[in-house]
Amino acid sequence: MQQNIDTYDFAGKKAIVRVDFNVPLNENFEITDDTRIRRAMPTLKKVLAGGGSLIIMSHLGRPKGVTDKYSLRHIVDHVSECLGVPVKFAADCQKAQAEVAALKPGEALLLENLRFYAEEEGKPRGLAEDATDEEKKAAKKVVKESQKGFVKTLASYADCYINDAFGTAHRAHGSTALIADYFPNDKMFGYLMEGEIKAIDNVLKNARHPFTAIIGGAKVSSKLAVLENMLEKVDNLIIGGGMSYTFVKAQGGTIGNSLHEDDLMPQALEILAKAKEKGVKIYLPGETVIADSFSNDAASKVVPSAEIPDGWEGMDVGPDTLKAWKDVILGSKTILWNGPVGVFEMPNFAKGTLEIAEDLAEATAQGAYTLVGGGDSVAAVTQMGYAEKVSYVSTGGGAMLEALEGKDLPGIAAIRG
Ligand code: AMP
Repeated sequence: MQQNIDTYDFAGKKAIVRVDFNVPLNENFEITDDTRIRRAMPTLKKVLAGGGSLIIMSHLGRPKGVTDKYSLRHIVDHVSECLGVPVKFAADCQKAQAEVAALKPGEALLLENLRFYAEEEGKPRGLAEDATDEEKKAAKKVVKESQKGFVKTLASYADCYINDAFGTAHRAHGSTALIADYFPNDKMFGYLMEGEIKAIDNVLKNARHPFTAIIGGAKVSSKLAVLENMLEKVDNLIIGGGMSYTFVKAQGGTIGNSLHEDDLMPQALEILAKAKEKGVKIYLPGETVIADSFSNDAASKVVPSAEIPDGWEGMDVGPDTLKAWKDVILGSKTILWNGPVGVFEMPNFAKGTLEIAEDLAEATAQGAYTLVGGGDSVAAVTQMGYAEKVSYVSTGGGAMLEALEGKDLPGIAAIRG
């Protein structure tokens, strides 16, 4: 049975909490953005305030074994500072029995990177490149078998399990999904997870209309399932960024050297046809800021998106299009934004993406519900100082994308099931 973190009695209990402390570190192992650590604090502090003790587990990066670069020891001091208590460190997540036994109420222990063990992901490592399908299958069976022991050990440390790692909720890993089975009556979401789930429900289940989705980013292929699912939900679909040129070309436009995927043109046309059938209004960039090379200092000009000359490529949305999109955004009661509408890493081509962030802040001030989900659009709102001016900023790129595709996330299903 799923429990509620607000009503659960943590007194004298040990809580094992899966967080997403996969933070960026510079070459001196200093944290360059601690958002993920800070966003997990309400949950961790709640357990301590309730008289419980904490066993914190996370991954960092994508190590293929024990690698000091990916050790969570680099972040212990910062976690201690944020939590307000000295956090102990267990250098091996599978051999922490003594440290766990010594934990007293109000104390916290951080386990070393779960992904130092292949069992966390349940995927074999070190397979020869020319391994046969048979060999791959056998290796997978071995790691899946030993995964059971790995998860059982983690579960043995605690009385209850909390999942607060939305960033890995789309992964069916040991610590994000399988471990929940050991806590049939003592498993729950943390506050961050609850917030993310509510935000997803606000757009996918309980959206107020008109509902507008703004989908950008580099490729149609990575957002196809999102576009298809959105067609079932929205009144307006704004398509920007590199992916928009596949749509423009599919409709007969000339796009010069702009990013595009020829093999996805039939799907692009299908999306346009389906939108028409469903009465969903599609907004593609009518005009585009083009550049004569993929660089911030390139020569640039504004042209109709369907008339991009040879030797030029689309980099950002043009000013008239941005004005038209602003009207759509400000006329909406629910707005979802995933993916930049231009090459926003280059300051000269960031205007469109930054203006969308500004429009969302304005719509929020007028009472709209606005959700920003996905790594790069999150970076844009944060960079502009608008993170506090939209309704919700998601912490999960891949997880949010899969949720928007309409998929059930294993990390969520494991707690509910
Ligand atoms: P995604 O990870 O799919 O959300 O894509 C984000 C990336 O799309 C960013 O790195 C942007 O620079 C890139 N992008 C957006 N618009 C364009 C464009 N017109 N041409 C090339 N890349 C773009």
